[in-house]
Amino acid sequence: MRAFPLPEKTDNILREKGQSGSFWEDRKDRHHCGIDLYAPEGEPILAIEEGEVIDVDIMTSPEMISYWNETYHIIIRNQSGLFCKYGELAAYNVKIGDTVEAGQIIGHVGTVLNNEKIDCNAPEYIQKLKDNNPSMLHFELWESEPIVEDRNYLGGNWFGDERPEKLLDPTEYLKDIESSKNK
Ligand SMILES: [Zn+2]
Repeated sequence: MRAFPLPEKTDNILREKGQSGSFWEDRKDRHHCGIDLYAPEGEPILAIEEGEVIDVDIMTSPEMISYWNETYHIIIRNQSGLFCKYGELAAYNVKIGDTVEAGQIIGHVGTVLNNEKIDCNAPEYIQKLKDNNPSMLHFELWESEPIVEDRNYLGGNWFGDERPEKLLDPTEYLKDIESSKNK
C-alpha cells in the first residue's frame, strides 16, 4: 500500500514540466530538486510508503537566509529501497530511527517565505512568490541517501546545471500513487 502524502490534496496538484514548483525547474542560478505540492499551512503530511526515518533536521531558517522561516525535513528510507525527503514542514511527528507505516502522519505543511522580509535582493522566482503565501510540501525522491549538506544544495535547490546522479524526478511516482488511489 502507498498513500498520497497529502490526504486533502486539491485537483491538479502535480506541477507539470516548466510550471513553477515543478521538478528541476530552471530558477536561473539554481534548479529545483523536488516538486512543490501546495497545501494550506498545518495540513497533515503522510508517509507514502512503509519505511524507516533516517533523518529529521532543520531545512530552512532565518539564520541561513533572512527571508526564510524555520522549517524541517524528514527523510524516510522506504522498504522498497527509494528515499523520500519531505521538506518545508512546519512541524514533525517522528524521530530518527522510527519505523512508519504508509499513511501515517509524519508532520505538517509549513511556509518557508517570510513575506515581510523579502526585499529586492531576493531571486526573481522568490519575488514572484511574494504575497502568494505559498505553504507547501517540498517533496524529493532519491535513489540513494539524499544529499542534504553540499555546497551546491540549499533549501531544496541545486546550484548548477548538472543534476545529482541519484536524484529522481518524483512526478511519475506521485502520479502513479494518485491514480491507484482513485481506482
Ligand atoms: Zn520546492
